[in-house]
Amino acid sequence: MTKTWRDDAACRGRTDLDWFRQGKPPPEVRALCAACPVQAECLADDLSRGLEEIHYFRAGMTAPERRRLLRSDRPPRPRELMPCGTAAAYRRHLRGGDEACTLCKLANANYQRLKRYECEAS
Ligand code: SF4
Ligand SMILES: [Zn+2]
Repeated sequence: MTKTWRDDAACRGRTDLDWFRQGKPPPEVRALCAACPVQAECLADDLSRGLEEIHYFRAGMTAPERRRLLRSDRPPRPRELMPCGTAAAYRRHLRGGDEACTLCKLANANYQRLKRYECEAS
């Protein structure tokens, strides 16, 4: 099967978090999104479904936050995207065709290590 962005999602397989019922999630869930390398893809996917389909907490934002973003009819501002020093920003560098900064490289390496560790542990 072809690899999709979902394969790299930090929440992949985390049924323990009762993910989709979280309107206002605990810090643990927010932290997961903050570390997730595919936050931009996740947000784009969510917004592409239209206003009626925006529910729960996703892509590091609550449903009202994402609805506001969609209604405003503009791309997310940089402050709504993950800053440098996160795995998501690392991907952004690569998508933009530039070399990732040191902080982003470190964050991505940490994320990959963590993922490997989780895979081995499960
Ligand atoms: S940004 Fe959050 S909700 Fe979206 S894939 Fe990553 S961890 Fe899951
Ligand atoms: Zn960076």
